[in-house]
Amino acid sequence: MYLASATRYRDMRYRRCGKSGILLPAVSLGLWHNFGGVDTLENGRAMLRRAFDLGITHFDLANNYGPPYGSAEQNFGLLFRQDLAPHRDELIVSTKAGYDMWPGPYGNWGSRKYLMASLDQSLRRMGLEYVDIFYSHRPDPETPLEETMGALDQAVRSGKALYAGISNYGAEATAKAAAILRRLGTPCLIHQMKYSMFVRWSEDGLLDCLKSEGIGGIAFSPLAQGMLSDRYLNGIQAGSRAAKPWGFLKAADVDEGRVAKARALQELARERGQTLAQMALAWVLRDGVIASVLIGASSVEQVEQNVASLAKLGFSADELARIDTILA
Ligand code: NDP
Repeated sequence: MYLASATRYRDMRYRRCGKSGILLPAVSLGLWHNFGGVDTLENGRAMLRRAFDLGITHFDLANNYGPPYGSAEQNFGLLFRQDLAPHRDELIVSTKAGYDMWPGPYGNWGSRKYLMASLDQSLRRMGLEYVDIFYSHRPDPETPLEETMGALDQAVRSGKALYAGISNYGAEATAKAAAILRRLGTPCLIHQMKYSMFVRWSEDGLLDCLKSEGIGGIAFSPLAQGMLSDRYLNGIQAGSRAAKPWGFLKAADVDEGRVAKARALQELARERGQTLAQMALAWVLRDGVIASVLIGASSVEQVEQNVASLAKLGFSADELARIDTILA
């Protein structure tokens, strides 16, 4: 039986998500990889328990996380029932719909039909009455934004979700979505975007847009799927994401250019008394508009190491300039 640590709220930092009542842990845990039907359930259980014991109150899912699709939600549901159910009110659980999920014209993109059916399926798989955040996983160029945002509003009004979020929307689409949601009376709580030292497109307008709209940011793949850690500094290790046939990081993505940058960054991290992964997470959190870094992990040790990044968040101007030079 799992007994949550009595000291779980001692060290974690909580940051306000935009102009909302919600505080998110500075480090959140995503279940995209390592929680599917192909993975070891007991490793997932150990990571969820340790994460919660370290003050991680936010777990992020999507309908199609696995593989196979839906299995991460199913496994989360099982582990939630066995371990975390007494703590439901201490948790922020999110899910999403927007990518390929089931065959035919109603299992993808952004229609009301897809979003509402998918949310019902997600709730059944996880055994939850509601999720805290329901996201439109990506913008749909064919469906009117009013319809997609209307579905998020309906999800909240029906009590199946407490807050609405969007993911992978550019700055312009974000401003439009925020205006529609505001008009509907369900403000956009959060934007989930890919953001790391290696992927900085959100600095070209999106982060400013979030600030002016009062939307919180949560950065996914802050370690560039492991490229911003020691994982690939000496080739592709067995058991790493790039070595797995179902991993979204492909061997070809581990290119010498990025590995060389990671090596140079690791030297700076060492001078700061951190690992590269810890410095990479601290760097994403340097702007307060990012409420949380949404990490993935394949072991309890990675969860622990990543949470320990909070021990040193600040950067000197010189360090930031050196990082920009390395990344240029
Ligand atoms: P990361 O960039 O944090 O990559 C996680 C991977 O990095 C781990 O699986 C592990 O790889 C490696 N890693 C983590 N910590 C360490 C460490 N301390 N030392 C060495 N290696 C480490 O994030 P993800 O790409 O996993 O994305 C995180 C979450 O973001 C997802 O679970 C999901 O919730 C969300 N997401 C959302 C998307 C969207 O479209 N909205 C898209 C993608 C992700 P290894 O397995 O090799 O050990």
